[in-house]
Amino acid sequence: MKKLFKRHSDLTPFLISGPCSAESFEQLYATANQLQQHVNFDLFRAGIWKPRTRPNSFEGYGEEALKWLRDVKQDLTIQTCVEVANSKHVDLALKYEVDVLWIGARTSVNPFSVQDIADALQGTHVPVMIKNPINPDLQLWIGALERIQQSTDAEVAVIHRGFSSYGSSLYRNEPMWHIPIEFKRLFPDVPILCDPSHIGGKRESIYPLAQEAMDLMFDGLMIESHIKPDDALSDAKQQITPKRLQNILERLILRNPDDISGSVQLKLSELRSHIDSIDETILRDIVTRLELIEKIGVLKKQHNIPILQVERWGNILKRLTGLGTDLKLSEKFLNEFLNSLHTESIRKQIEILNDKKV
Ligand code: PEP
Ligand code: MN
Repeated sequence: MKKLFKRHSDLTPFLISGPCSAESFEQLYATANQLQQHVNFDLFRAGIWKPRTRPNSFEGYGEEALKWLRDVKQDLTIQTCVEVANSKHVDLALKYEVDVLWIGARTSVNPFSVQDIADALQGTHVPVMIKNPINPDLQLWIGALERIQQSTDAEVAVIHRGFSSYGSSLYRNEPMWHIPIEFKRLFPDVPILCDPSHIGGKRESIYPLAQEAMDLMFDGLMIESHIKPDDALSDAKQQITPKRLQNILERLILRNPDDISGSVQLKLSELRSHIDSIDETILRDIVTRLELIEKIGVLKKQHNIPILQVERWGNILKRLTGLGTDLKLSEKFLNEFLNSLHTESIRKQIEILNDKKV
């Protein structure tokens, strides 16, 4: 069977682009037309039903937009894809000749919805792409893949779109690259695409994230584009013009995994991405620790308890030095690390003690 979702022979990624949402026939037509002038894309995307975090936001034009998309497909001879969140969407998308379907992150998180879609796919031959669930749960993503694969023998690919996390971050959705890398290791034959638009959440992040996906040998990219990004009805901050997409694609460095230096580079990128994810987790955990320290600081202030309680710190030090030594960390590193953590905690509590508002 011909593989649909794969890099082209010149190593350029399988490319999906188009607006976050279908807003009008004219918007779809102009975006697809400009994409045709600027880039070599494989699938034109458009959101028909938009899953929104809060009600009363733009929720898509539904069936009417499917008609626009079908007309644009026929006029420009392109292939299209849309997001489906239930069996009704599947039936309607197929009725209006959509070529490929995808399951969004808010749907792949729910096995009932995924099964409903899988049941609707029985007997069809439409390829499906499955975005990772919103939360970083590899098993849930795998479960969605298995449910769809059990219902259809059409091609199935997955899309990495990052994972939601609490608190502020550089990204709209944390890339946590080690999760898609583990997915690739477990399912080497399932094509994997990356959606840097939804990971980054802003235009400037698209290029570096797309480059990282290329370095990690992802098969393709899904990047949102719009003729007037600032006026988009959804995800305005992360959409780009087809011309800007061309510029991003031209700057991508594409490495060949078959040359030695290419494969070493890829291995290095894989390891570095994993390290980056771990470093980010460590920092976030330290912040959580400091937040708890702050709470203790408030309690100490309210109840007039001194900040430094030597015995408590002595116990922590003893326990962690023991654990760290068992884990083969050097004593010097453990001392420096734990002392620096302690110093920062004390600094935080002194700040609270002097804070008149507490
Ligand atoms: C989208 O592709 O527009 C979308 C809603 O994505 P996600 O499911 O990744 O949030
Ligand atoms: Mn979007």
